[in-house]
Amino acid sequence: MKPTSKYHCLGLFYTMVLILILLAPELGQTTQAQKINDNELIVLKVRFHLPSGIMMESKGQKMTVWVSPENIKRSLLPEINRIWRPAGIQFEIESIEEYEAIKPANSDKLLREIIDSHRDEDGHSDDTRIPKIKQFFDPAKKHPTAHNVFFFPYLGQTSQGNARFKGNELFVGVWTDKPTKAKKPPQKTLLIEPEPFKIGSLGRTLAHELGHNLGLKHPPKEDMVPYRLMGGTTQGYLLTKEEIKTSRDEAKRHQTDYSKSK
Ligand SMILES: [Zn+2]
Repeated sequence: MKPTSKYHCLGLFYTMVLILILLAPELGQTTQAQKINDNELIVLKVRFHLPSGIMMESKGQKMTVWVSPENIKRSLLPEINRIWRPAGIQFEIESIEEYEAIKPANSDKLLREIIDSHRDEDGHSDDTRIPKIKQFFDPAKKHPTAHNVFFFPYLGQTSQGNARFKGNELFVGVWTDKPTKAKKPPQKTLLIEPEPFKIGSLGRTLAHELGHNLGLKHPPKEDMVPYRLMGGTTQGYLLTKEEIKTSRDEAKRHQTDYSKSK
């Protein structure tokens, strides 16, 4: 019986080895899959709103929304995705809506107040202009869960964008006087700007405002990490490790909300 038992043991040993060999790639794949999951690309949908019929004037410069769907597809979206690639977050067009803006009864007064709005001594922009801007858009056109980008001619002195913390809407001005600190008439905001950051662009402003939608705040001015997308001492495109973690968590929530609403 002894030899048989010895062979039996050997057989069991070889079977175990065979199982391990067969399982090994599977085990490897599991680790790989978990790894992919951590760096998984999160895709978020964006609805772009291009209103026509809004005319604003500041320091003799007449301003309308001049951005085209082609500008969005060929310049702005690729720039936003270039900036957000390190976080593994990608934005896709849900739709581009071109329509005539609503004309509120007191539209001239509202536009004048938006043009005249400016930052306070602490550099905070005037938040009362946002409800005024909203009156030019039909709320029914807003997507309930995708990110909504509302283009407007001009958002007020030295202001290029506005978003609500963890919200799903943002406003950008396609004319700006931020580079001249409002000393000169507004000029068309650059669509994109090659790095390094010099005067800023619409692409970067959109990427920055989307950062607010994804739960990111401005770092304190004295922050030691330079060239950040969310601000600080020197402006740039960098997302810190913590910002990537925060924005990915928030992006997953946006993604779930969007898939539920479909
Ligand atoms: Zn900001």
